[in-house]
Amino acid sequence: MPNDSVAITTICPDVENSQFTLQSNNPDVSPVQMEEAILTIAASQHRSLPRIKILGTGGTIASKGADSSQTAGYHVDLSIQDMLDAIPDISRICEIEYEQLCNVDSKNIDESLLFKIYKGVSESLQSFDGIVITHGTDTLSETAFFIESTIDAGDVPIVFVGSMRPSTSVSADGPMNLYQAICIASDPKSRGRSVLVSLNDQISAGYYITKTNANSLDSFNVRQGYLGNFVNNEIHYYYPPVKPQGCHKFKLKNKTDEASDFHLPMVCILYGHQSITSKLLELVQDHYDGIVIATMGAGSMPDKVNKICLQCKIPIVYSKRSMDGMIPVANLPTPEEGKESNIVASGYLNPEKSRILLQLCLAQDYSIGEIRHVFRGVYGGA
Ligand code: ASP
Repeated sequence: MPNDSVAITTICPDVENSQFTLQSNNPDVSPVQMEEAILTIAASQHRSLPRIKILGTGGTIASKGADSSQTAGYHVDLSIQDMLDAIPDISRICEIEYEQLCNVDSKNIDESLLFKIYKGVSESLQSFDGIVITHGTDTLSETAFFIESTIDAGDVPIVFVGSMRPSTSVSADGPMNLYQAICIASDPKSRGRSVLVSLNDQISAGYYITKTNANSLDSFNVRQGYLGNFVNNEIHYYYPPVKPQGCHKFKLKNKTDEASDFHLPMVCILYGHQSITSKLLELVQDHYDGIVIATMGAGSMPDKVNKICLQCKIPIVYSKRSMDGMIPVANLPTPEEGKESNIVASGYLNPEKSRILLQLCLAQDYSIGEIRHVFRGVYGGA
């Protein structure tokens, strides 16, 4: 029977039970016809909700401890469905599909898992209004930076979320953080904002965010400022949609479509300190394709180390130990006359993000000049 022969006068979504009540002014409408009409309307109402894809990777948000006071030494043990069970109201906000890409502590996220996440996001972009990625907080900012650097999300928000307390602890933060991330991914105001991180009521850019506290709930900080705030079901953005300045988009190369075949050039990070010598540098330079140094201050390394760095055959990025600030080009060591320097300034990027950016540059076989150009983009340079 065509639906228009059922004259519907009232549609009342029963919010508590997700049911519909229909009344008809046509006395000839049978209960079966009524049922069909209800199903059609329920389906169309359902379709009008945003479609959100959740990609699960693990982390504390997917962890369980031995008792309710344990907030360390717990283990990953929860599926996405378990996590969703803790937020029963979410079906009112959006339609959810999910995929468990892996279930690990984020210290175990390696290149093949990064590729899996990249693939999971790429394959979901066309069919979903928003993507949520659950992830351990320890390396969340690295994955977020990698995804921002390799995927052009168009208008689709990609929201990373984690938690600092395991699901079993008193006042676990996971359910509220996940709820907020799903709401953010579903909200039209989030469109065009690229990779976001949602944690502890704050919304930030995945490109800039850093984990600054190893233990507290307020573990993430962003010196470039938060993008917005989540309060009592309201999402407040402080600025219109904006993408990170100078973010270079890379096309990933993989021999096959297999995550296990995905490898990036090897880049290590050395940490600057008083009395540092060039010994470590000499030990690693033949085993790596590039080096990042967390320098003291804004590019300071002992003169002797600077000299050895300039003699290395591989690119070296000078980043910083300090949380704040940047490395200006003027602070880089000067090469011998007529020689091109192999040292590049990281701009505002911290050592771990500089490492990923250098890996991506090297994977494209960029020259030192091209690498310099990409890094200058980070602070608005040409
Ligand atoms: N160890 C955890 C991780 O997977 C920490 C966390 O998620 O907060 O990174």
